[in-house]
Amino acid sequence: TNRVFSGAQPSGNMHLGNYLGAFRNWVRLQDDYECLYCVVDLHAITVWQEPAGLTHQIREAAAAYMAAGVDPARSILFNQSQVPAHSELAWIFNCVARLGWLNRMTQFKDKAGKNREKASVGLYIYPNLMAADILLYKATHVPVGEDQKQHLELTRDIAQKFNHDFGADLFPEVEPIIQDEGARVMSLRDGSKKMSKSDPSDYSRINLNDDADTIAQKIRKARTDSELIPETPDGLTGRAEATNLIGIYAALADMERTAVCADFAGKDFASFKAALTDLAVAKLAPVTEEMTRLMNDPAEIDAVLRKGAERAQALAAPIMAEVRAAVGLLG
Ligand code: ATP
Ligand code: MG
Repeated sequence: TNRVFSGAQPSGNMHLGNYLGAFRNWVRLQDDYECLYCVVDLHAITVWQEPAGLTHQIREAAAAYMAAGVDPARSILFNQSQVPAHSELAWIFNCVARLGWLNRMTQFKDKAGKNREKASVGLYIYPNLMAADILLYKATHVPVGEDQKQHLELTRDIAQKFNHDFGADLFPEVEPIIQDEGARVMSLRDGSKKMSKSDPSDYSRINLNDDADTIAQKIRKARTDSELIPETPDGLTGRAEATNLIGIYAALADMERTAVCADFAGKDFASFKAALTDLAVAKLAPVTEEMTRLMNDPAEIDAVLRKGAERAQALAAPIMAEVRAAVGLLG
């Protein structure tokens, strides 16, 4: 079978980038694959999370998946820490992966910042846990954004080395499902940085729980340049912020950038932003409403996650037994 695994961190502020770059695509994949969609809370705690906030964020992440259209009857929707085998396999992978491999990970360098000595050890070995998330289910396909490509390469290296070291043909080769370029959403404040949950500026992103007024205000304040909308996307070269806004419009409207440019050619950003606001509000309002409804009754979310964890655990158990046997651990 072709099995998909993907996840997002419950680090707060689920945003438009997560929606266009991940959730919307996850929903489509449900037609062709057996899918596991995970709220990766153990990844989130690689940086500090207020405990009370984290509990809320975990539920909100699950609500965002469901509101975007992940169907817990078809896909396995679950929370990582509720299936302890993720941690167990990650430990084994900590002993398979090499320091040199992890030293090359650019996300660690970005997230740890200048004061690397103060970063958690968990942040450093995060890619090993991600490899465990995927391989625990022998997932064959992983939809990834640009930001996760390097981690997926590492997953392939770990699988290969495990198979080689233990003479076991246990883990499959994982194939990325690469998102198209348009699915990458950049910060509204800086077109060279991706839109991110952990960006300290709330004006850098559109959150999935922002109301219409907030969305309007953020788009109005979004950085642009003083030029007009060009006739073709060629005219966007070197204009990161303009490229981003056109790209967001195209993704939300399910249009090509070429068509968006043709529609708005010669207009200024004030009028383009007004149209973008209407579109964003129209597309996001149903998602926001459903998230709000779900968050009003956490019991429903908790039940979905409990059931999802049981199903995930059932898939993981025989694979974990194979791993233990291959390594020589007692069963
Ligand atoms: P954090 O800042 O805490 O890392 P994040 O915004 O990067 O949060 P993740 O939980 O790391 O979100 O990623 C969840 C999924 O969303 C991944 O599939 C990732 O590729 C995708 N994603 C994250 N940011 C963007 C973005 N700006 N554009 C498109 N896809 C994105
Ligand atoms: Mg991230």
